[in-house]
Amino acid sequence: MIVIGRGIAGVLLSEELRERGLDVLVVDHPRPGRASAVAAGVVNPVVLRRTVPSWRAASMLPLAGERYRQLEARLNVRCWHPSPLFRVFPGDTDREDWVRHQDDPEVGSFLGQPGDDVPGGVDAPFGMGPVLGAAWLDVPALLDAHRKAWSAEGRLIEQEVGPADVRRSAGEVVVLERRARLVVHTTGPFAEVPGLSRVRGEGLTIRVPGLQLPGIVHRGVFLLPQGGDLFRVGATFAWDQVWSGPTDQGRAWLEERLKQLLMLPYEVVDHWAGVRPASKDRRPILGRTSPQEAVLNGLGSRGVLLAPWCARHLADHLMAGRPLDPEVDAARFSDQGRTTTRPA
Ligand SMILES: Cc1cc2nc3c(=O)[nH]c(=O)nc-3n(C[C@H](O)[C@H](O)[C@H](O)COP(=O)(O)OP(=O)(O)OC[C@H]3O[C@@H](n4cnc5c(N)ncnc54)[C@H](O)[C@@H]3O)c2cc1C
Repeated sequence: MIVIGRGIAGVLLSEELRERGLDVLVVDHPRPGRASAVAAGVVNPVVLRRTVPSWRAASMLPLAGERYRQLEARLNVRCWHPSPLFRVFPGDTDREDWVRHQDDPEVGSFLGQPGDDVPGGVDAPFGMGPVLGAAWLDVPALLDAHRKAWSAEGRLIEQEVGPADVRRSAGEVVVLERRARLVVHTTGPFAEVPGLSRVRGEGLTIRVPGLQLPGIVHRGVFLLPQGGDLFRVGATFAWDQVWSGPTDQGRAWLEERLKQLLMLPYEVVDHWAGVRPASKDRRPILGRTSPQEAVLNGLGSRGVLLAPWCARHLADHLMAGRPLDPEVDAARFSDQGRTTTRPA
């Protein structure tokens, strides 16, 4: 089997298939704009704007924790960090709303007791509410460890796959002269998959001397501690000119929100951008697109949380013939959609 693309989707899928005893080859070329290279890795089971759980959070969250811990052990890397996440209340009504939602059977189990113990330097006169079960994944560390392991096993080719590098015939696909009975495209925002939409995201890395946070803090943007006095700030959402890279408008938007959250001086040390592979109905896109090809895509803005379940679900479908959940089935957008990859 060949997996094309080695972002979060390709990493989780290749590991899933390998564990099931398949002979897997991964092919990847790091393209500018790829999502996983800039993903902050925040895992937040609550949509804070609406105080509702993110899609299937109650079942996705334990699976994600279990899966990333297994990968830590196999790939010899520390990347999964359970971490408190605090919502800074913009006003009293937001705090009251939070308390009311604590009794909600869907989201209540993720909402901790609001508190007034606010870290120095954070502007939170109405206190903060802890999201329970949050975490962050050190995505670059996981990608790096996966790269080392798969290179050492001779199972990684780091090369661009152009349209002419894929030859299809009855019963097999040939990619860069390697034959496979099945090719799975995990090429993120570069894929041409029916239903896929692309969303640019930008973020900053800042230095804030003296700031000590007990976890991730969120108000409009998140502030994620990275060790020492470094923090990541993110992220923007833009649906136009998605391949532009970092923009002045993106930075201004981020800094405007940052200043509502942070009362300390900071220095911007990096500004990054990438393109999220989202979908028209905000659900992942999984399944066969032809007898010899399949796709795992559409992870959107919660790729870290969704990828473990998606990889397992797709592998169950491809290997054991289990039916796909209609909510994620690629066929919902097109019965004959064939996955190809955008030319560079
Ligand atoms: C700014 C930003 C912040 C984000 N923050 C978070 C967050 O905090 N938490 C979270 O869960 N998610 C976050 N996301 C979303 C997350 O990044 C995505 O859901 C996820 O990374 C998608 O992974 P992917 O593997 O599908 O795509 P990608 O990571 O883009 O991987 C696709 C891979 O395929 C390769 N490729 C493509 N075409 C070819 C080809 N022809 N030949 C060879 N290789 C090819 C690409 O170079 C790339 O390596 C963020 C996204 C952005 C942009």
